[in-house]
Amino acid sequence: MSTLDSVNESRNFIDEAAIWDAMKRAVNPAPALVREILAKGLERKGITPFEAAALLKNTDPGLDEEIFAAARSIKQGIYGNRIVLFAPLYVTNECKNRCAYCGFNADNKDLERRTLTPEELRREVEVLEDLGHKRLLLVYGEHPKLGAQWIAETVRTVYDVTSEKSGEIRRVNINCAPLDVAGYRLLHEVGIGTYQCFQETYHKETYRKVHLGGIKRNFEWRLNALHRAQEGGVDDVALGALFGLFDPVFEVLGLLHHAAQLEKDYGVGPHTISFPRMEPALNSDMAYNPPFPVQDHLFKKIVAVLRIAVPYTGLILTTREKADFRTELIEVGVSQMSAGSRTYPGAYQDPNYDRPEVQQFCVGDSRSLDEVIRSVVTEHGFVPSWCTACYRLGRTGEHFMELAKKGFIQQFCLPNGLLTFKEYLEDYASPGTREAGEAMIARELESFPDAGRKASLQRRLERIHQGERDLYY
Ligand code: SAM
Ligand code: SF4
Repeated sequence: MSTLDSVNESRNFIDEAAIWDAMKRAVNPAPALVREILAKGLERKGITPFEAAALLKNTDPGLDEEIFAAARSIKQGIYGNRIVLFAPLYVTNECKNRCAYCGFNADNKDLERRTLTPEELRREVEVLEDLGHKRLLLVYGEHPKLGAQWIAETVRTVYDVTSEKSGEIRRVNINCAPLDVAGYRLLHEVGIGTYQCFQETYHKETYRKVHLGGIKRNFEWRLNALHRAQEGGVDDVALGALFGLFDPVFEVLGLLHHAAQLEKDYGVGPHTISFPRMEPALNSDMAYNPPFPVQDHLFKKIVAVLRIAVPYTGLILTTREKADFRTELIEVGVSQMSAGSRTYPGAYQDPNYDRPEVQQFCVGDSRSLDEVIRSVVTEHGFVPSWCTACYRLGRTGEHFMELAKKGFIQQFCLPNGLLTFKEYLEDYASPGTREAGEAMIARELESFPDAGRKASLQRRLERIHQGERDLYY
């Protein structure tokens, strides 16, 4: 363990007193204050935790609509109508921790435990590649026999699976338990994209109550995981809180404090933030009856307020949420979402995949990737994207954020998104999705402001049609 590991183990930079104070001051915010905060938010420089609390504590329905409108405008201005798609791939559900809300909890004796062999992992990746996925999130339980070396090996295996027909996975993100700096260095060496680690709850007392055993009981070790990842060279790191465990406003402020600390220490905040809502999980009473359930309206406000507070941070939505509601959430700020997800090891090659005795939690949106794409294209006008250009050209961490702030996302990400969408349409789409997608690409080209860029994009789209792959700016 390096010195940094041991220093980090005891550091708690979440100032609970400051969070409570901000929440107290934010009760019943005057309409003028809410509008002042929204005007500041629209400048796309973010807002303070107190200001975020004031927006969340507002109870005037008309002003809530103004909050959603501001978030929509920021989302549209920075990200346009693009939505990045990925799939989670569960590599192991073996776990020694006792998280009261999770089906993989070591106390759950009814869960069938499984760790994919390299061959099984390859097969999962092949199935996902054949569906058209290019970006995966690998998910792992925490078990001492499955350390950083082993995790790194699974990443190598995934990158290694390529086929003539379906190409390759171009970005592997990771959601695994906290490692030490040396462990993150290994993950960096094998080329992971983003490292995700959710704090679950930023309220330390609650944290201790819901983590009944295992390494995960150590709040500070987890809190400093993303700092250690940065030290190990992984500069795209991702935060999250599990909504349902504690007061949701407290959790949003915890996320913002965490983001601010990363920004202060490394000059760059989190690449993405996730905000899973607790879902039913086998043998977890807590997952069926969350102590702080978050209703849809407040949840949508949380997404909108995060979009206003950290405008350049990607916001990730999973299939925990139901199909219709996901669309509303995309409009107010979500920039990435999973699709066609299955939440246990071996699920993608399993013909009887709806199996509560092995999965982590129940998914709310069980549509296939193709169905999700057709719906986002035809019903909502979003451009699906599998773009991985930034990561592959070294535009990560601070460098990415600098570019993002200069309007780069609109200039590069939309054309890159369209190129990956074209590949999807050529290689994987059903006839109905292909037709709808080609019409969308034509419309997008039509509204391209710059003639030179439009012509260049048209040439590349044609090259893809002729059989070339993996073109990007
Ligand atoms: N074991 C690693 C860890 O705990 O960090 C990573 C994998 S864990 C399966 C990934 C995330 O799933 C957790 O961080 C938690 O937020 C989320 N999760 C656990 N139980 C859940 C539930 N019942 N509903 C929704 N999300 C849940
Ligand atoms: Fe294990 Fe992670 Fe589930 Fe906790 S949340 S039981 S650590 S898989």
